[in-house]
This record gives sequence, C-alpha cells and structure tokens, in this order.
Amino acid sequence: MSFSNLGLSDKVLAAVAATGYTTPTPIQEQAIPHVLSRRDVLGIAQTGTGKTAAFVLPMLTILEKGRARARMPRTLILEPTRELAAQVKENFDRYGVGQKLNVALLIGGVSFGDQDAKLTRGVDVLIATPGRLLDHTERGGLLLTGVELLVIDEADRMLDMGFIPDIERICKLVPFTRQTLFFTATMPPEIRRITDAFLHNPQKVEVSKPATTAITVTQLQVPSGREAHQKRDVLRRLLREAKDLKNAIIFCNRKRDVAIVHKSLQKHGFSVGALHGDMDQSARTAALDQFRKGELPLLVASDVAARGLDIPEVSHVFNFDVPHHSDDYVHRIGRTGRAGRTGTAISIVAPADQKSVTAIEKLIGQSIPTIEGNYEVAESSPEDEQHERRPRDASRRSRGKTPREREPREPREREPREREPRPAAASPRAAQSEPSRSAPSRPARSDQPRHEQPRHEQRNESRRPRRDHDNEPADHSHLPAFLLRPVRAPLP
Ligand code: AMP
Repeated sequence: MSFSNLGLSDKVLAAVAATGYTTPTPIQEQAIPHVLSRRDVLGIAQTGTGKTAAFVLPMLTILEKGRARARMPRTLILEPTRELAAQVKENFDRYGVGQKLNVALLIGGVSFGDQDAKLTRGVDVLIATPGRLLDHTERGGLLLTGVELLVIDEADRMLDMGFIPDIERICKLVPFTRQTLFFTATMPPEIRRITDAFLHNPQKVEVSKPATTAITVTQLQVPSGREAHQKRDVLRRLLREAKDLKNAIIFCNRKRDVAIVHKSLQKHGFSVGALHGDMDQSARTAALDQFRKGELPLLVASDVAARGLDIPEVSHVFNFDVPHHSDDYVHRIGRTGRAGRTGTAISIVAPADQKSVTAIEKLIGQSIPTIEGNYEVAESSPEDEQHERRPRDASRRSRGKTPREREPREPREREPREREPRPAAASPRAAQSEPSRSAPSRPARSDQPRHEQPRHEQRNESRRPRRDHDNEPADHSHLPAFLLRPVRAPLP
C-alpha cells in the first residue's frame, strides 16, 4: 500500500513525499479513506502510531476547497495539552506547505489578543486546548457554527485531566452535521458514553502500538535511600557512569521536585533543562526545542512530557521518582527506544516506592532487574546538602498546613485554565521575561482534574503492553559495567 492509493490530493502527496515517508502506517491506511469519504471515525490508537498524519493529511485534502470566514473556523482540533497542540500545528506546517491555509493555535499561556486577531482574519484550522477555546467562545470572539470537521484527539487523556465536561460543551457548540474524528488509546466507559452521544455511525479503526518499542528498552531499577538528596546522589552517579548516554529525560512526580532536581544538576555542572506544567509557554517551548536540538542533553520533566511528545532518539529515561500510576511508567519509558532504537530506562527506587514498583511489574508482566552498587548509602556532597536544606525546611513548614495548602501532586498533563500566562517556576530567565499581570475579574471556572480517581478503574485491558518479548534475553552490551554486576539475592 502506498500513499497514492488513499485518495489524497496531489499537493498533499507531494508534501508527504518531501518528508520521505513512503508507506502509510496502519492507522493512516485504515483511517484516511474514511475521513475522505466524510465518515465519522473512531480511531483507537496511541501516539507513535502515526495517528496525527492520519487526520492531518485528509483534512488538508478536504480543506483545499472552500475559504475561511472571520471568527468562524472551518475545522477544529482539540488536544489535551499545549505541547500536543503545537505538535499538530507543526504537522500542518509540514504537510500544508503547498497550501495557503490559516492555522491558528489557541492554547493557554500565550497572548489572548494575538489569538483574537488571528481569529478575526479567518481560520481554516483551529487547534485548541479545551479551556482556552471556551474562554474565547465565552468572550464572543469565536463562533463554532461553521465547523465542518471536528477532531477530538487523545480523548482518554482528556478524561484523566477532567476535560470531558468541556468536550461535551464544545460538541454542543459545533453543528450537529459536522464530521467527527475521535482518537483514544483506550475505551473506558466514560469515553464510550461520549462516542455514543457525539459520533454518528462511526467507522472504527484500531491499531496497537508496535511491540518493538518495548523490546528495545532495557529496564532497570536502582535502590536508593529515602532522602531526596540521596536520590540526587544516585542520579548524578548514574548520569556520570552511564555509557552511551546521548540524552536523557529525568522524570519527577512533582513539579517542585522538577525545579529542585534541575537546579541541583545545574549546580553540579550538568547541562540540563526543565519542563513542567507551571512554566509559561515560551519557557516550555524553549526547553523542548533545546532538548530536541541536543543543545541541552538532559531534561528534567514532570509527566507533562511523558505522553505524546514526539522527541526522537532519547537514549535514556530516568525515573527520579517511581510514578504512582503504573501506566505513567509505560508512557515515560516509551520516550526512549522509539522507532526500533535501543534505549535504557532506570528507576531510582526509595523504600517508599517499592509498592509502586510491584504494581508496575504486575502491569508490564515482568520484573525489573535491580542494579547493586551501594547506592542506598551514597553521601551528598557538602554543596548539595546546602541545597537540600531548603526543601527539608519547606517540608517541615508544610507539616502544619492542611493538605490543601501543601503543593499538590502535579495533575498529570493538566492544561491550566488560566487566561494569562503564569510565571515560570523553573526558569528564572523566563520568569523575568513575562511581566506579571492582574487576574481577570471574572470568576475562574471550577475545573478540578479527576486525576485523583484510581486510574485502573478507568482503564481496560487494552492498555496492557504486549509482552511478546518476555522470554528474550536483553541486550546489555551498551550498558556500563557497573550496571551489569550480579544482583545479590535479598536475605531471607
Ligand atoms: P504520531 O503517532 O502522529 O505522534 O507520529 C509518530 C511519528 O511517526 C512522528 O515522528 C511522525 O512524523 C512519524 N510518521 C508519521 N507517519 C509516518 C509514516 N507513514 N512513515 C514513517 N513515519 C511516520
């Protein structure tokens, strides 16, 4: 099967050829003809399957006819996060080179006025996060009655983030007769309810993620002491001693820890960036760009970076914290070993993390080998101890606070519904560059994420990765020798 058999326009085919892609991926092969015949499509596919082009390419073909009107976009794509929205825009820029289409991005953290001006000029493709889109419709600057085609991407993640009520509202603002393309990795009951309500006789297409991704990732765990400075010690040792480390994402569970680990690594001379949900958009984009280009080989991130982002060729993933939700582990380590490349994922495991590791091993259907090397007793360097005092003091202070007053765990990939950019927490430069502005007088919407709900209750079995390779011996040739020392059996 080649792209030319799918019914795409000549302009789009030329743009695809220019990218070097010769064969459509299974989701593209299955979905594109249905999109072009204007059917609703229910696509069950994860990121990494080529699903973005599965809707972008036929949309570009459809949009060749017709013109945009002021404030009335012709097509609307909903994405759960700013990064994913920006990534979809990149796809339109790449494949839409031969066309004069107006593509607008409505995401939080960037100027409202600029977005409004763009809407006034007329938009063919509107790519938006739900909160910012509703802000624009409520202010009267945007009419959705001209939308001919609606894409809801990463729907199960929208569910995790508490966006489903927003999605339902948006679906009621677009014409009943529009075409809808709906993508989700899993079909929990709430997503099924949405598809039953808002899709008309959809064509279902389903693909599983290629098993090669998991096969090529070597997974390891390293024991650590319980204190944060001990974990930072372990991390530095791993970073210094790892062989073939080209670049790495270091995941923390809380954005506060992202900032601390980022600072600590910088202090120890590592070239490192940070990415979490409280940074303003320009700082997030800059960090990602620098990491993608290799200017910063290390990126400390919260789960905001765990899913969906297309960052090719990450050689290592480190879990500074073991994620509390097992499926986050799968997504995190999925950042490495992409497209058949090898990768290494190492989790730093403090005693309190053991329960999470057990749950992860159950989910992935294999045990994660332990690296021994006296990591538990690693000592902090004096300057790091100084750095350590701050968070410890902070935690002492927070002990007197109610749980609400303490910093909550970062909602997984929650798109903040702010109308104005928030100051960056991790990037002093970015914080300076963004003048603080007063909050709007309108009351904020109540939009608490549902991330506290146990994820296993929302998931079905299809999320479980394929374990075709369980019995295969892992290739450890690219690992440093210390990682391969025999594991001592625990004392009975
Ligand atoms: P996605 O699932 O949309 O995030 O895409 C994952 C990656 O696959 C992106 O880097 C795309 O550029 C790439 N990709 C999309 N379609 C194809 C194709 N037909 N052949 C090879 N790579 C592709």
